[in-house]
Amino acid sequence: MELREKITPHQYDTWLRAIRLAKLAPGAVELIVPNKFVREWVGKKYAPLICDSFRRLAGWQDVRLTMTLEPGVDDEAPTIAVKPSAERPAAPRLGARPEATLVLNRDYTFDNFVVGPHNQLAVAAARSIVDRGTRVYNPLFVYGRVGLGKTHLLQAICHGLLDRGTAKRIAYVSCEQFINQFIAAVEKGDLENFRGRYRLVDVLVVDDVHFLASKERSQEEFFHTFNSLHQLEKQIILSSDSPPIEIPTLSERLVSRFKQGMVCELEPPLFETRMQIASRKAEQLGRALPQDVLEFIAQSVQTNVRELEGAVTRILGKAILMDLDVTLAMARDALADLITDRRKRVTLDDLVATITEHFGVRRSDLQSKRRTKALAEPRQICMFLARKHTTHSLEEIGMYFGGRDHSTVLYGTDRVTARMAADPEFRRLVEELGQRPGGTTTG
Ligand code: ADP
Ligand code: MG
Repeated sequence: MELREKITPHQYDTWLRAIRLAKLAPGAVELIVPNKFVREWVGKKYAPLICDSFRRLAGWQDVRLTMTLEPGVDDEAPTIAVKPSAERPAAPRLGARPEATLVLNRDYTFDNFVVGPHNQLAVAAARSIVDRGTRVYNPLFVYGRVGLGKTHLLQAICHGLLDRGTAKRIAYVSCEQFINQFIAAVEKGDLENFRGRYRLVDVLVVDDVHFLASKERSQEEFFHTFNSLHQLEKQIILSSDSPPIEIPTLSERLVSRFKQGMVCELEPPLFETRMQIASRKAEQLGRALPQDVLEFIAQSVQTNVRELEGAVTRILGKAILMDLDVTLAMARDALADLITDRRKRVTLDDLVATITEHFGVRRSDLQSKRRTKALAEPRQICMFLARKHTTHSLEEIGMYFGGRDHSTVLYGTDRVTARMAADPEFRRLVEELGQRPGGTTTG
């Protein structure tokens, strides 16, 4: 580490080795420390040095350092913040009325949102609300699995509208907040106030509406809020982890309201886009990553943008703290536990079990010499997953599948790779099958 020049190896081992980097955002570093003692000591003795390293090596002006205890460690005061230079607050953005304070993440803008085939439609719809100020898509309903950018996109719309000054009153809430406020209002007998707050806005943005599942009274209330705004042609924007029809127990009338405008999906980004996102994130953190490292990241994390960013953070954090050049080898090392975790757990037998179950074929057939199409494809997918998720060599994989040689395995995996590139449905299937045996979300 940079710091290593300034402190003895013994001090380093004692104090800094046990520290993990939890979060790295431009200007903000969060460390996880094993106990309060280390936190206090490091806070006093090393915080300025650590901040200094980041300031110089990442080129940041201000650095805010937070230290959190390892999860599970008992603590009354969760964090201490060391503030070596002036701190910029995460500016809350103000709507027209003083009480309408919108708390938005200042990084969640369109400029910071990488567009690719996986999210093109949703972004176009979102932008058109900002640019044209029309109510053509009302509501706009965006759905996708966790970590694929729903919150970012919804907040980008809010930033866009605020920048343009077109919408006077914007309400942005998580559905959970909406529900909690509703329950509190019922308890206090103060529904009027609650309704006033949500029915007098120009734009209502509600994140994660799948939280309405199984909450009958909240659904009812939301239905009326929705209707009264919709009738007044106010813009409504919603997000959810699944399409309206698949939200469990959602009343039919809400399903039909949600479907009535524009419904679009945020899918997992494709390889190229994952590289772009990783590259963008690294740039934001003040450093560029070499091409092979970007490829490695995009290959390692496939289904969740938040985890993709996490991988970049880990690699850059390690590079900065330890003063290393970012190379493929150090990147592998930085992500080692993330990847070996899976490799350790997944066996060829696991993979075959997943594949036989999904395709309805028999294990003995996959391992036989037979080459019918019905067997060839599942077998090739299995080979592909084995290469990706286990440490077996081509030869070993070939042996396992009926004594085939390594070139057959290579051919098979190439076929799968090619089809994945051409066919998003197929790609999703393979990625999904690859997730099953290990049961993690990190490819
Ligand atoms: P969700 O709300 O769907 O769970 P988020 O909006 O919280 O996901 O996104 C998770 C993280 O990934 C955020 O830090 C967000 O900025 C980032 N992210 C997601 N999609 C993109 C994208 N297309 N370009 C850049 N960053 C993205
Ligand atoms: Mg979200």
